[in-house]
Amino acid sequence: MSETESAPNPQPAQEDEVVSTFRSLKDLINFASSKSLMKGIAEMGESGMAEALPFPFLALVGQTEMKLALVLGLVNPNVGGILLVGPRGTGKTTAVRSLLELLPNVERSTCYYGCMPEDVELGGIDAICPECAQKYAAGQSLTAPDRVRLVELPLNARIEDVVGGLDERAATHERMRLRRGILAQADRNLLYIDEINLLSDEIMDAILDAAAQGIYTVRRGPVSATYRARFVLIGSMNPEEGKLRPQILDRFGLRLIVRGLSNAAERLEVYRRVQAYLNNQRAMIANYAEESQQAAAEIQEARKRLRSVSIPDELATRAIHLIQSMGIDSLRAEITWFEAARAYAAADGRTEVSQSDLSVVAPMCLRLRRSSFMTEYFKDQSGEEEEMQGLLKQLQ
Ligand SMILES: [Zn+2]
Repeated sequence: MSETESAPNPQPAQEDEVVSTFRSLKDLINFASSKSLMKGIAEMGESGMAEALPFPFLALVGQTEMKLALVLGLVNPNVGGILLVGPRGTGKTTAVRSLLELLPNVERSTCYYGCMPEDVELGGIDAICPECAQKYAAGQSLTAPDRVRLVELPLNARIEDVVGGLDERAATHERMRLRRGILAQADRNLLYIDEINLLSDEIMDAILDAAAQGIYTVRRGPVSATYRARFVLIGSMNPEEGKLRPQILDRFGLRLIVRGLSNAAERLEVYRRVQAYLNNQRAMIANYAEESQQAAAEIQEARKRLRSVSIPDELATRAIHLIQSMGIDSLRAEITWFEAARAYAAADGRTEVSQSDLSVVAPMCLRLRRSSFMTEYFKDQSGEEEEMQGLLKQLQ
């Protein structure tokens, strides 16, 4: 468990350290997170631009488990959503936005209406817009590689914004009469919802249904359209501001308890980095650019490798027994656990899940699954973690 337990103390990096010698993505992230600021940054002065560039992911201090969960979500969208639970000011939103530089590429429709070749295979040529139908007939590609995006749900979003609505300038073609909502825009992207516990039930249900099925249908009078919505849902919440319905909690694969850093040296390092970032965002990002690029390339590689990563039956059976002995009923527990372990193995350059992969990701997959309510959970939490650690030893 040492991989996730304690954050590395910030230590100065060797000037001549060669980045490409890192054995795995994890080593790279650990290295970059403990790398000290370049001497020059503080003296570079203000950039003079009012920018809002994301803080570099690799410059986040500590919070090892949260960082690991976010990376696993990029490697394997089937981990089934990530929930970050913790008080304000623990860097949850900063961490999610910082993923920007690590986002991999996916094949995406080049058409506004999201037409894909699969649409033709499933529903015939009328299932795509006339322009795409022409392209398809001419043997041209309807997709192009594009970076995964981070789509944030605005706090004041209405249900029409989320699922889409009628296009006032209604065109004649069926597919064009509905405006795509945020869910359709989130297809093959990350969908981030801050304060997810404050979302209305109507919107939450629409999002969860779409997330579970990967598609959703909008009906407005006689017009309807079906859109793909395969996204990694990332939610964050402050439990002091209201609890999450248990059925919503169950839909999140990875659950992270995000606490403030307790180590004084780490807190000081956070302060220094935030100051450097506020002083000159571009210089701060440049300081981590090389490692960020390499991490992004490794994530892309891990996504490819994921297809060939398997989990031995014997190990999977033991893991399911462990889940049963914890009294967890939801089948989502093992799905998430196995998918996260596969992602972890893939990121480590391997094609078979080991017992240690399962152990590393177990807490984020299995916590908060037994107790129905957050309040109960917070009471029982330390007991649950201890018991889980004890049970995990049986895997060894
Ligand atoms: Zn089209």
